[in-house]
This record gives sequence, structure tokens and C-alpha cells, in this order.
Amino acid sequence: TPLSHIRNFSIIAHIDHGKSTLADRLIQATGGLSDREMSEQVLDNMDIERERGITIKAQTVRLAYKAKDGETYTLNLMDTPGHVDFAYEVSRSLAACEGALLVVDAAQGVEAQTLANVYQSIEHNHEIVPVINKIDLPAAEPEQVRKEIEDVIGIDASEAVLASAKSGIGIADILEAVVNKIPSPKGDATAPLKAMLVDSWYDPYLGVVILVRVIDGVLKKGQQVTFMQTGTQHLVDRVGCFRPKIEQLADLGPGEIGFITAQIKDVAQARVGDTLTDTKRPAAEPLEGFKEVQPVVFCGLFPVDANDFEKLRESISRLRLNDASFSFEMETSAALGFGFRCGFLGLLHLEIIQERLTREYDLDLITTAPSVVYEIELTHNGGSIELHNPADMPDPNKIATISEPWIEATIYVPDEYLGSILKLCQDRRGIQKNLTYVGGRAQATYELPLNEVVFDFYDRLKSLSKGYASFDYHQVGYREGDLVKMSILVNDEPVDALSMIVHRGTAETRGRGMCERLKELIPRHLFKIPIQAAIGGKVIARETISAMRKDVTAKCYGGDASRKRKLLDKQKKGKLKMREYGSVSIPQEAFIAALRMG
Ligand code: GDP
Ligand code: MG
Repeated sequence: TPLSHIRNFSIIAHIDHGKSTLADRLIQATGGLSDREMSEQVLDNMDIERERGITIKAQTVRLAYKAKDGETYTLNLMDTPGHVDFAYEVSRSLAACEGALLVVDAAQGVEAQTLANVYQSIEHNHEIVPVINKIDLPAAEPEQVRKEIEDVIGIDASEAVLASAKSGIGIADILEAVVNKIPSPKGDATAPLKAMLVDSWYDPYLGVVILVRVIDGVLKKGQQVTFMQTGTQHLVDRVGCFRPKIEQLADLGPGEIGFITAQIKDVAQARVGDTLTDTKRPAAEPLEGFKEVQPVVFCGLFPVDANDFEKLRESISRLRLNDASFSFEMETSAALGFGFRCGFLGLLHLEIIQERLTREYDLDLITTAPSVVYEIELTHNGGSIELHNPADMPDPNKIATISEPWIEATIYVPDEYLGSILKLCQDRRGIQKNLTYVGGRAQATYELPLNEVVFDFYDRLKSLSKGYASFDYHQVGYREGDLVKMSILVNDEPVDALSMIVHRGTAETRGRGMCERLKELIPRHLFKIPIQAAIGGKVIARETISAMRKDVTAKCYGGDASRKRKLLDKQKKGKLKMREYGSVSIPQEAFIAALRMG
């Protein structure tokens, strides 16, 4: 396709504003799929994504669109991930495009992630085409939202397309706007090859599939290419695009987006942001902006049944084939036995992996307290260490300073919930940087320790605001803090899976909360069980579970035999998911539930 007839664009939106629905409509309208094939959302592939309504892996689709001017254009539509945990992937997909459709829900208006994404899009010099979606909703206020887009984002929305992705309104106008407003890509077909690696994933049939955007030169089947950041060379054995079904091509020219395979075994070798060049005639410089993604949240994953360790190893290895952004290494714990210390991009990422292991691989897991990475300066010129696991905390005497990662969070919330959100931020050691009002809502900017955000900040934010608050963050570096290791003792035995690094100032509240919740979560035994939180040798909080005879069926379920049976079965099953600590059984749920702060 000549450059003048190519349009590369992505859709940016806050979660649930209708990005995937719109993408599917555009595919349908350009004939990529039959109506029957459209019955399910196409771009959200995995079950978990569909259930949670989020897109994790970016996908791209090539559409052939016959415009009103009679010409046929090649439109490359990139679906970007919608969650802060995957910010780097968003950035790379945006870098592969010249423009973006900005989808805003006509009933909800501009939200935090709308802003975060649109700013990124502006940074990439995108032409932004606003689309006001869901105008079919009774609560839709398209004119107010149009004004909000102008006031809050500062872009012209006078020609915003009014649409309903659900009922198919405005789809033709959107396609015309893509052709007429978004610039065509630039590039030089005769220059040495430069292609950006936008995404990579493992496909059971094709092996590692690499999504690329060609900047200059031509990428051909049979070509030997060098990955400039990793320094490896590979023979390209397939070139193609998704319509959304796979179509093989002879080559990809400048401005084009498509995929290649090159007999690569491991996604870790195909890093997002890398530059592909021709081995025989290489480009002088790689493309700018390559960044290696680093896991920021770590936790231990242990099988409930120790016999499942090998199965866990296999399952984790298989997941890792498709996701180079999470890391794992073996870990042993006195109480939990053999397991893995895993690193994730954020809490959602952690939950997704954990859920997939449980669901797809049928594993019962214990997840230890998530932890951020601390930087510890040792005394006596002992150098510094990165702490991924509270269990490895050095002796306090050997520690000169501990630093923790901080983030800057932007929160967008209707006025009526602002008070409780500000309190939440304050309670989490937040430092207010800014507070402004836009379109009847408050925008608060806070600096917060990541440590205070990883557990349940997002959940709290949502529940305190009845779902209305939205949140986005980026890291702003390490800062020294008065941090200590808090241990939890159950029946005088330390449970290392529950130990965590906390700020001294909030330790007591945290400790008390943990003990109270564990008291609720650990069933009564035949003896009394003390639960304590301690720093060093000093107990800072304590609860006691009183003794009880565990005859649950005797009391309330007198007559009904089937209910009795069910209850016993349930108890038996529950028992399987318990972990023995000395003589105390702790249910699996307790490990995560105990970490949720009140
Ligand atoms: P995404 O998170 O931005 O990808 O949003 P989805 O496309 O998954 O849509 C979120 C929800 O909004 C789904 O339940 C859709 O059916 C619904 N939705 C999307 N577009 C429209 C629309 O134009 N009108 C209405 N009423 N609902 C829509
Ligand atoms: Mg989606």
C-alpha cells in the first residue's frame, strides 16, 4: 500500500467506555468478520480479560476501508491495554500510530485514564479524533461531555463524532474521520530497515509472534534480522497481518504494521520496544525510547499441596512463555515449603497470573503478602541490596537506610466522595501536590509510597466512591523511609508468609488490623490461639482466638441430612485448603484477606 493510503491509529479510553465494542464494530463494518463471528468480542482474547472487561495484551487488526472519496485505505487499528499496570505497552502501541480515537462515555465523561492516555497520545504527536460513545444511554449528556473534553483535555471537540458502538450509530462517520483527520505515516522504503517491536506473545502453533511497525525499509520473509537491543539475530520465516484472521504477506513496507515469526522460542528474546534491522544492511541507530520493564510488586506463590510443586513450576513456566514482564525464581519457606518468588508489573498483573494458575492450571495456591522492592544501604560500607522479600530483611543493626519506591497518583472523583478519598490518601502517607476542580469533579494529585498502594488502594478507592473515582499513577523514584519489618505470630510461631515491611508510624494500626482480621479468618481450634504482631521482639498488637469444640453440625442443622452432608463435605474441602502452622490450621483465603486493610 502506498503511504498515502495507510492510517495507523489506536483507540484510547477509560476502562468500560466502549473501546473493545467500538473496535469490533469497525472490524464488522469493514467486512473483517461475519455477523456470526462478531457474536463475541474479538479483541479481548482471554477469558479473564473478558470477564474483567479489560484488555491486557495489545492486538492489532488491519482493515480495508473504501472511503467516500472512492479510494480504498488500509487502516491499522491497535487495541491498547487499558490498565496502569501495562503503561509501557500502551506507550509502545501509541508510538506505532499517527493518531488516536479518543472514546469518552457520554454518561460518564472524562476519567483519570482518559486523561493519562490522552496525554501520552499527545506526547506521541497524535492527531486525536474525539468520539462520544454510548449516546443511546438515557443518561447520556453528549454536549456536556463535549465541553468537558475541551475544558479538561484542551482539544477541539466541536467535530467530535457522536456514536453508539453498541447500536452501530456513528460508525461510518468514525471511519471517515480516521481517513480525513489522521495523517498518513512517513518513511523511506530505500533506507536500511528499522522496525519497532510493538508486542510479542507465544502462540502454540506459530511460536513467538512479533508485532512490528516498520519505520523505514522493508521487512521480508526470508530476511535475516538483528534485534538491536538484545543483539540477537533471527531468520524471518513468516510475515503477515491480522484481518483479524491471519493473512500471510510477502513483506511489510514503511508505515505498515503486521507480524512476523522467526523461530523464536521465548518471548523474553522479543522485547517490546526493541528495534529490528536488516543484518546485512543495518540501520546506524536503534529507535529511541526502549525501556526494559521491571517488575515492581513481588510475592511468593506456594502450592497448598506440596505435591503440586512440579505442576506449579510447569504452569508458571508456561505462563511466562507468553509474558516476559513477570519473573519467577524458586523460594523456600520454613512454613510453606517449596514455591516461587514472582515479580509483577502491578497488583492487577499479580491477580491475573494468580487467577490463571488457579483456573487454567487447577492449582490451589497460597499467595504471600505482596511487597515492593526496597533498597537497603548497609552499614560499614556493606554496599546496598535490593530487597524483594521481607523474609530476607537483614538484621536491623546492619541497616543504614531503607528506601522505598514512590508514585505520583492522579485521582479523579465526584465532589461528594472527595472527603473520604483525601482521608484514604492521608492514611496511606500521601502527600497532596494539587487539587483542582473540573466539570463538577475534583482532580487530586498525590505522592504516595507504592507500598501503601499495592495491597488494596484501588479497591478502597472504588468502594469509597461507589465506583466513581478513577486512578492512574507513575513511579517517581526512591525515597528513604522509617521502615521496619513486622512479623505475625500465630500460636507463638512466626508465619513468614504474612510478614511485611511497614512504616513505623502506621505499624501499630496495620498490626492491629491484621490480628483482628486473622482472628476472624482462622477457625477456632480445641485450644486457645494467640495472634500477635511484632517488630523485632516487641509485640505491638495481640488478639486471641478462644478454644471451641468443632462440632458444627450438632447445633443448627438438626434434621436435614443432605444439608448436613454438604456442610461436612465443605468442611472437608476447607481442610484441604488449610495450611498447618505447628498445630494451627490457617485457611488459604486468610493469607490474602488478612492483607486487605480496613
Ligand atoms: P472497554 O473497557 O473500553 O473496552 O469497554 P467495552 O467495549 O468492553 O464496553 C464496556 C461496556 O459498555 C460493555 O458492557 C459494552 O456492552 C458497553 N457499551 C459499549 N459501547 C456502548 C454503547 O455505545 N452504548 C451502550 N449502552 N453500551 C455500550
Ligand atoms: Mg476492552
